[in-house]
Amino acid sequence: MIRILFSAPKTDWDDYRDILADALQAVGVKADVEHTLTPSSPETIDYIVYAPSSKMRDFSPFRSVKLVQNLWAGVEDVATNDTLTHPLARMVDSGLTDGMVEWCVGHVMRHHLGLDRDINRTDRVWAPVIPPLATDQTVVVLGLGALGAAVANALSSLKFHVRGWSRSEKHIAGVECHSGENGLTQALHGADIVVLLLPQTPATGNILNANRIALLADGAVLINPGRGPLIDDRAVLAALDSEKLSHATLDVFRVEPLPQNDPYWTHPKVTVTPHVASATRPASAARVIAENIRRGEAGQPFLHLVDRAQGY
Ligand code: NAP
Repeated sequence: MIRILFSAPKTDWDDYRDILADALQAVGVKADVEHTLTPSSPETIDYIVYAPSSKMRDFSPFRSVKLVQNLWAGVEDVATNDTLTHPLARMVDSGLTDGMVEWCVGHVMRHHLGLDRDINRTDRVWAPVIPPLATDQTVVVLGLGALGAAVANALSSLKFHVRGWSRSEKHIAGVECHSGENGLTQALHGADIVVLLLPQTPATGNILNANRIALLADGAVLINPGRGPLIDDRAVLAALDSEKLSHATLDVFRVEPLPQNDPYWTHPKVTVTPHVASATRPASAARVIAENIRRGEAGQPFLHLVDRAQGY
């Protein structure tokens, strides 16, 4: 019988207890899953399912752990933990992906169709504005991983002209793919909407700075469900004030919860959402966790391993 430590805030325990047990059983893994903040004999734990919001920071007592399976897609807090020397997998979950696609498509459509204009119509003025078609709009998605590629695909299927950018070269049908520094310039050039789905790493900090915002179409829209540090906040605020950017929809921030006195809260051209773009869904995530543990027990390579050198 293997030991699995479920190291997450207590509020997650009930959500996962039964479905994780069922998922493990479905792949033939016999395990004790311990939902606890204080495991006994940590040296005999085989796997850790880990939420970065758990209080646990010291992984050194877990000498036999074969895999730390992160419950979240973002690993910036875990990948930099020096006590965590075990293999680390990030969460790639179909429910998380579907949620992100829906959130991003919803926010792109809000700006593309100018929905606010009609929703906020209180002046009784009958002033029809025919929205453009998606084929007339260029959306660029920075980051073409599990989430970015799915968002790019969904936007492409709605007939937006979609560009994407990633570290390695990609080929995605219906998406104009770019990579590298020159590729970033080409991807941003004249784009109407930019969606950030990059991970937070040393290489991606402030990636959307003043120079790169200047490449976008005048009045472009920024949508950031990636991570707060991807954008240079001062440059974004300046671009909103100069009307280079017409709106920023921001789900993630350098400091969360966003401090009460942060200018984003009150800026008329900013929509703040409280880090809700998407979340790991226990039903589908439990199957991912179980499959990775099955692989570990069968001596097969783990899925979705984090490359520590790259930070994601
Ligand atoms: P992923 O599969 O690891 O994909 C990351 C993408 O970013 C890949 O395409 C990667 O390029 C690209 N990339 C990384 N570093 C780069 C660099 N220096 N230059 C160019 N491209 C780079 O991650 P994911 O699962 O799609 O998740 C993306 C991020 O979304 C997470 O890290 C997290 O921060 C955020 N997120 C937010 C929420 C929310 O609710 N707001 C929820 C979940 C996730 P390659 O393909 O070449 O490796």
